[in-house]
Amino acid sequence: KRMKVGVIFGGKSGEHEVSLQSAKSVMDALDPLQYTIIPIGITRDGRWQVGKGAMKALETAQVAAVESKGTTTQLPKNYINSTIGGLTPASATRSVDLLPPALVNEIDVAIPVLHGTYGEDGSIQGLLELVGVPYVGAGILASAVGLDKIAMKQMFAAVGIPQVQYVACTRNQWRTNPEELLDMVEGNLAYPCFVKPANLGSSVGISKAKTREELAKAIALAAQYDRKIIVEQGLDVREVEVAVLGNDVPMVSVAGEIIPSNEFYDYEAKYVGGNSKLIIPADLTDEQREQVERYAVEAFQAIDCSGLARVDFFIERASGRVLVNEINTMPGFTRYSMYPKLWEATGMSYSKLLDHLIQLALERHVERE
Ligand code: ADP
Ligand code: MG
Ligand code: MG
Repeated sequence: KRMKVGVIFGGKSGEHEVSLQSAKSVMDALDPLQYTIIPIGITRDGRWQVGKGAMKALETAQVAAVESKGTTTQLPKNYINSTIGGLTPASATRSVDLLPPALVNEIDVAIPVLHGTYGEDGSIQGLLELVGVPYVGAGILASAVGLDKIAMKQMFAAVGIPQVQYVACTRNQWRTNPEELLDMVEGNLAYPCFVKPANLGSSVGISKAKTREELAKAIALAAQYDRKIIVEQGLDVREVEVAVLGNDVPMVSVAGEIIPSNEFYDYEAKYVGGNSKLIIPADLTDEQREQVERYAVEAFQAIDCSGLARVDFFIERASGRVLVNEINTMPGFTRYSMYPKLWEATGMSYSKLLDHLIQLALERHVERE
């Protein structure tokens, strides 16, 4: 008997389009002899669609994935103004048509191929826990912590994982006393620094600031996306990523390096032009490789992750020092994305990877009972 797999995609996040691309690849790769696919789409305004309606959204997906050469596309026009975390008016985001009850009884396992807010932050995971459907990837806690760059850094610090210096602040601090906040940042960090909304991905809302004026602009921008803002010491770095797979005993893939096509790995460099390069395996010293592998497992376990995660590192050019940048609990998952490519280079095909992830989802579900 074939297993019924609910593939959930789209969603009310700035990474809606990226999710559609990932879901397409996943559905293409699930072995039809083993699985029946139930496509479950979530529109930008949070309505759920099952089957045909959901597939329509996929056909109009627009954003090219990194390395998908020849498919240079534009950002969707409504991208910045529409559904990025927290900006949509509350009236538009309330949605009662969640996972249809009939469907809950049908699905053997769900793959929430969702990135960012409401998808990678524990909310979908919470819904799936409530209805009792096993699902691929991190649970509620790891999802929530992994998406919140401030909470994530605190958890990493607690187990001694090396990271860049940072300052955490709030939108409220910015609104009530901007000069004091700028002084505080300048007192703790040197230029350039990176300003980020705490709870987004895909580089949305992130800017590099080289002066106090740019810092002010960057914080104002980040404050549009999130209540919580993080300012980090900007370093001259190489960017290296590894894929982690497993539950209690996670495996680590070979490492890959990203060569961004822009000054930093911003949204454009990630998706729009698709000109950033992935180098697999990354050229590392034995010591660096050993550290990357060790910190990847430590980071995964620090947030109580399960299933999968991509752990991203900075290697400071001047010193060769290895620092953890972040963990992504639902990394880009197209055929051309780093996560599946890293496993391919480690000897696991995209389809086998999906089999493995489904198995891990079922195992975790049983462990919890
Ligand atoms: P996201 O979760 O959106 O991917 P990241 O924290 O990974 O956010 O930042 C996006 C990109 O910005 C990184 O891949 C890197 O190119 C650049 N960047 C972020 N923080 C720093 C930093 N402290 N120093 C140097 N570059 C950085
Ligand atoms: Mg991220
Ligand atoms: Mg990143």
